[in-house]
Amino acid sequence: MGRPSNKRPVVEPIRRKCATCGKVLLVKHRKWIIPQRGSEYKVPSYNPNTKKKERKEIPGVEVLNFCSIECGGEGFQNTYTEDDFIK
Ligand SMILES: [Zn+2]
Repeated sequence: MGRPSNKRPVVEPIRRKCATCGKVLLVKHRKWIIPQRGSEYKVPSYNPNTKKKERKEIPGVEVLNFCSIECGGEGFQNTYTEDDFIK
């Protein structure tokens, strides 16, 4: 309801090594690993004014690339949604 469609996460057509099967294929799925509060990492607080910052530049954040949903599906855990950043 009134939510712009450009807020949806988009995976660009890039080729990366799949974190599951190790093949370098078109990335179909990604998993962001966001450190939880209370971890060893210092996590900056998120607010709308900092959403321009690339997530991959946030200390402690890792991204895994998968060649398919199947490769990325097992144990997939999304610790946040885009809406956590944009409110
Ligand atoms: Zn794979």
